[in-house]
Amino acid sequence: METKQFKAESQKLLDMMIHSIYTHKEIFLRELISNASDAIDKLYFKSLTDDKVGLNKQDFAIWISADKENNTLKITDNGIGMTAEELENNLGTIASSGSLKFKSENNLTEESQIIGQFGVGFYSAFMVAKKVTVISKAYGSDTAYKWESEGVDGYTISETEKESVGTEITLELIEDTEDEKYSEFLDTYRIKGLISKYSDYIRFPIKMEVTHSRPVEQTEEEKSAGKAPEYEEYTEVETLNSMIPLWKKSKSELKEEDYKHFYTEKFYDYNDPLKYSHVINEGMPSYNALLYIPSKAPFDFYSKEYEKGLQLYSNGVLIMEKCADLLPDYFGFVKGLVDSEDLSLNISREMLQHDRQLKVIAKSIEKTVSNELKDMIKNEREKYEEFWKAFGLQLKFGVYSDYGMNKDKLQDLLLFTSSNGKLVTLDEYVTAMSEEQKYIYYATGESIARIEQLPQTELVKDKGFEILYLTDNVDEFAIKTLMKYKEKEFRNVSADDLGIEDSKSEEEVKAKEEENADMLKDMAELIGEEKVAKVIISKRLKSHPVCLTSEGEITLEMEKVLNSMPGDQKVKAKRVLEINPEHEIFGKLQSVSDSGDKDKLAKYANLLYTQALLIEGMPVENPVEFSNMICELM
Ligand code: ADP
Repeated sequence: METKQFKAESQKLLDMMIHSIYTHKEIFLRELISNASDAIDKLYFKSLTDDKVGLNKQDFAIWISADKENNTLKITDNGIGMTAEELENNLGTIASSGSLKFKSENNLTEESQIIGQFGVGFYSAFMVAKKVTVISKAYGSDTAYKWESEGVDGYTISETEKESVGTEITLELIEDTEDEKYSEFLDTYRIKGLISKYSDYIRFPIKMEVTHSRPVEQTEEEKSAGKAPEYEEYTEVETLNSMIPLWKKSKSELKEEDYKHFYTEKFYDYNDPLKYSHVINEGMPSYNALLYIPSKAPFDFYSKEYEKGLQLYSNGVLIMEKCADLLPDYFGFVKGLVDSEDLSLNISREMLQHDRQLKVIAKSIEKTVSNELKDMIKNEREKYEEFWKAFGLQLKFGVYSDYGMNKDKLQDLLLFTSSNGKLVTLDEYVTAMSEEQKYIYYATGESIARIEQLPQTELVKDKGFEILYLTDNVDEFAIKTLMKYKEKEFRNVSADDLGIEDSKSEEEVKAKEEENADMLKDMAELIGEEKVAKVIISKRLKSHPVCLTSEGEITLEMEKVLNSMPGDQKVKAKRVLEINPEHEIFGKLQSVSDSGDKDKLAKYANLLYTQALLIEGMPVENPVEFSNMICELM
């Protein structure tokens, strides 16, 4: 018989697993049981609508049997089984389970970590077994198949006999060594321990024939002679798991560890969740939920590939792996599950979308998440800031999308870096505002360091007003969508009207502008109207000579963002070059302008414009010319 090779990725993983000095080899049992349970789930689900299955709920079970003589451990289920093709596809490659992909994209180097926390599934059997045999008969098929493998070398598939539908996996354990005792996995006590640790909640009974001993009944004579009793062995089938899903247990029964462990195992995260909440809702509809906020964003979170959703159970039976309707997009980071008795089991995907009960549950879950987050802001600030780093962007998108429909719900969850060096909420910002301060000021730029140096911030900072530093593309759009917070308008520090009473009064500036009208007009023309719409006397500059601002709705930052999006329509902010009349350079400009030397004025004007571009973090249109001009002037 031909031995087939594992697909390349599987080979890598197998190799990694077999050779890793991994201490949690024990998880193989959890993985195999969880596969068995999934397989039963599938057949059970079928049995609800299809009489041909011929099994009732109480018939489904997983069996464990240990054979010390032959050094084998067997896990049997009467689930849906696998066809030859499925054996080939499911056990010949691991690419589909996604864990390897995750590993490479996250550059995980800790091999043990991924094995320990992840559902690496079936392959983990090779951590303890030198040979794995899978005999399976698929539901609806007459033929059974045997899949055999001794690890990296490959596997074979052949026809075999098996009476009933289901799967039987036999592990021939690796021989014990000095450091590793594989045979311990044949110990009843050890097996029981593992099942209660990892698989207690599995919904189907995990059964095992257990051997006990008991004293042999003594005769009256033996008793009166005070003879020590003899013991005899007997076997009994025991169910090793409680079968109560975690979320149906009472909170007092559960420890933090239980919740965390359930999460890392079920949702394939190798980090503990940042926060979890166990909802037991007895109202209408009644439901139980486990909700988790991950501590890190999944690698694909901000991509189209990411699918939000919660697992949906109807009275303990999984009916949907990812029910998207249970979560709004902005809370798409939440992982977890919902179990409700008030949902019909045979509900189709389309019907589900219109299900009233489901909508009510979704609303209530949204509330729970929102309250959890608000609670974190108040009572676990550091944790919230960690959350914010991972998922804040999503909340800002949430404010901006759907025409700002959800902004009121989200505005109090936002954090911004403030000029005071901290992350602040809008409420904290507004509370700290002095009476004199009219607006909520913000400045945009590609980094905090860059924004801190923007000349436009000078006047506002000088007044001692706090500024929100916006560095994400979506920020300014979110702010524009909010428009106001607690009656306070947002104001870009580059805006024309900053609402600040200043030494440079309106009239003074007007007078200066009139006085230098010709020069300003000349400068604008000499720079070119495609570059600046106009040149004006600045009200906001203190020490810097120039800065670039914009007029109208589209700011320079928005121009950058919008133009980086796909599409041909390019927008352009109406740029304004502001000159500081207090700066030395201003006098120079005036004298050049008075002398009538247009050439020189052109050079000065263009130099200043380029300087402003540089400060703003925008590309210089002609670096060579800029450099030549500087040399010439020097
Ligand atoms: P995962 O469970 O993460 O998908 P595994 O490597 O554990 O990855 O299993 C791969 C696939 O093999 C499963 O998705 C399932 O389709 C199939 N499978 C594994 N064990 C069984 C079983 N006992 N009965 C039926 N199918 C199984």
